Order: sequence, then structure tokens, then C-alpha cells
Amino acid sequence: MSRLDGKIALVTGGASGMGVTHVRLLAAEGAKVMIADIDREGGEKLAAEFGAEVAFTHLDVTSEESWKAAVAATREQFGTVTVLVNNAGISGGAGVTADMDLNTYYRTIDVDQHGTMLGMRATIPAMVEAGGGSIVNISSLAGMTAAVGFPNIAYVAAKFAVRGMTKAAAMEYAAQNVRVNSVHPGTVTTPLTEDMLTQYGEEFRRSYTDKIPMKRLATPEEISHAVVFLASDESGYMTGTEIVIDGGQLAEQLARPALPTAKRPS
Ligand code: NAD
Repeated sequence: MSRLDGKIALVTGGASGMGVTHVRLLAAEGAKVMIADIDREGGEKLAAEFGAEVAFTHLDVTSEESWKAAVAATREQFGTVTVLVNNAGISGGAGVTADMDLNTYYRTIDVDQHGTMLGMRATIPAMVEAGGGSIVNISSLAGMTAAVGFPNIAYVAAKFAVRGMTKAAAMEYAAQNVRVNSVHPGTVTTPLTEDMLTQYGEEFRRSYTDKIPMKRLATPEEISHAVVFLASDESGYMTGTEIVIDGGQLAEQLARPALPTAKRPS
């Protein structure tokens, strides 16, 4: 018996980056998986690698109508969605508050925050009816702490909101066995990150990586393993909480600045 036998998962943003590894690992553990993305080409290509256990449906997470259609398509293909991975997201690029393009600000909040809310709204009633479910909201280290310019203020706002909405929804539906948790990755090697890091050159990439206590970025799989755990009954008593996967960054940011003599062993 596999860890996710009988589970039906919908993964938003499943066509790229860590969405792809969520899909692969969820399917490998026995879940039926619907890839839901605005990127039809990428989603269909990924689904074609699998048999009948993985399918693709078009979804724009910012549209309630689109959510209704994607959930209906999943029900038709597999049955009731019992695992929702709210993973789709955009970064909105780099820049400080006064310089930020307002359309980018609103779009980032719309995809990253409202998309997550609409996903929970579209799937929770059927999960309640089915006797329970698990929602995994992909927030970020930017949902715990901020930095100057990148991530930008819209991304930080949206990812803090995802963390808060996770706790609100978890409290609302705990008694109905719908669990809601958030995952907070540090920097992961995906197209979203590559776009940002390559923009500033190799030297910036080196100094960025050097500031991470573990001296490397996360692999997408290292995030997907937490998603699988939260999707599974192994996490059956966890709700309203968060998993931080950041190579030690949050622990360091909470600490006092290191004294000049307190050097990390190299
Ligand atoms: P990515 O850019 O590789 O993939 C994002 C996917 O979301 C794409 O397939 C894209 O088509 C899809 N998408 C975008 N807008 C959409 C919409 N309106 N409706 C449906 N799908 C849409 O990104 P990634 O790096 O894999 O990030 C995945 C999630 O993890 C995001 O929520 C991101 O904020 C979060 N995250 C990423 C990192 C990182 O370092 N990469 C760190 C922390 C958190």
C-alpha cells in the first residue's frame, strides 16, 4: 500500500518548477493527480509522461469560473479532490515600494493570494462532504520575513496572507477533518529563481548562495517531500501550521548579527 493510495490531488502551477516535482512525487506515492495550470502546453506535455493516473486541466487561479471548471473536470476524471496543492505563483520581479509598477503589484497579489483563497473556496465543500481532505498552501520564506527589493512588497504581502489564510481556514474546518497547512521554501532551483538570479550575474548568485547557512539552494524535490507528507495521513494531526524548508535562513535571521570574531567554520 502506497502512502497516497485513494487520494485525488489537484496541483496548481503543476506545469513548471516545483509544481512538476509535486506532481511526480504525489503520483509516485499512489495519488491520482490533476495538473492545473494556465500553461496548457507544459501541462499536457507533463501529463503525457504518465498513464491514466495523471491528467491536465486548464486553470487560471485568479478566476472563480475557471476554478469551478477545473474542479468539475477533476471530479469527472478521478472523483472528489481530497488534496489541494495551492502552488501556482509569480514573483512580480524585483523593486522597492515607491518604484513598483502598480499593475504588477495587483497581479502578484491576485495570483499568489487571491488564487489560493479561490482554490480553498472551490474545493473545501466537497472535501467536507467526503469526510476530510488536506490543503497544502505554498507560501515562502517571504511569508515569514522580508528583504529589501526582492522579494518585492506584493510578494511578501501575498505570502504572509497565504500563511494567515492557512490558519484561518484550518480553524474553520478542523472539526470536519479538512487540514490546511503552509509550506515555506527558501530559494529553490526553479525557473522563477533562475530568472531572478541570472538577471544579476554570476557574482551576485555566488554571494546570494553564500549567505544561506547550508551554502546552496533547495532542490524542488526537497519541497515536494514535505508536500507529500502533508498530503498523506502521516500528518493526520497537523493543521494550521507551517513547515519551513530554507537551509537554515530563518534561524539565522532571528539571531543577532554575528560578531566579527564568530566566524562560521569553512
Ligand atoms: P515557476 O515559475 O517555475 O512555476 C509557476 C507555475 O505557476 C507555472 O507553471 C505557471 O504557468 C503557473 N501559473 C502562473 N500564474 C498562474 C495562474 N494565474 N493560474 C494558474 N497557474 C499559474 O515557479 P516555482 O518556483 O516552481 O514556484 C512555485 C511556488 O513556490 C510559487 O507559489 C512560488 O511563489 C513558491 N516559492 C518559490 C520559491 C523559489 O525559490 N522558486 C521559493 C519560495 C516559494
